[in-house]
Amino acid sequence: MDIEVITGDITKLEVDAIVNAANCGLLGGGGVDGAIHYAAGKELFEECLKLVEGLPDHRGKTGQAYLTKAGRLPCKYVIHTPGPVYRDGQHGEPELLASCYENSLRRAEEKGCASIAFPCISTGVYGYPKEDAARIAVKTVQAFSPVSLQKVVFCCFSPGDEAIYKRILNEKD
Ligand code: ADP
Repeated sequence: MDIEVITGDITKLEVDAIVNAANCGLLGGGGVDGAIHYAAGKELFEECLKLVEGLPDHRGKTGQAYLTKAGRLPCKYVIHTPGPVYRDGQHGEPELLASCYENSLRRAEEKGCASIAFPCISTGVYGYPKEDAARIAVKTVQAFSPVSLQKVVFCCFSPGDEAIYKRILNEKD
């Protein structure tokens, strides 16, 4: 599986699946979630409504991942994963963040996706320290055994975040 690191807007990527750093409500929000819903249009919102209607308590769970079609986006699927809100790292945050990446990869595999792009989950409003989050992202993706997936893109939103991922990936080479 090739790993690419870029700085860009995830809504523009022509990959099979993009991952949305969602909240447990799964119906949109701020940050990357808002950008994805804005770009995808009401079709994505309607997909999400259908999705939550089928879930216990009509909510998603932190660390889980839920796949929908992608509305007007150039990708085929959006995988919505609620990341953990960071407190102090002692409340299961690392395991939950790793689950977000692993479950998202699984959802993509279930659809036979060849490519997937991740934002820096939980590192915005949810406050996860960027370096720690990037290490978990890289480690979890590298530990995954792909069947259909050939390419994983870490789509950062700033050159500073891109530099963190590139440094971590180089350390491991
Ligand atoms: P969370 O609530 O999981 O912390 P946020 O959306 O607040 O989610 O932030 C997650 C990451 O997504 C941050 O690094 C933020 O800079 C980034 N981000 C925001 N908009 C976009 C976008 N259009 N494409 C890619 N990344 C984005």
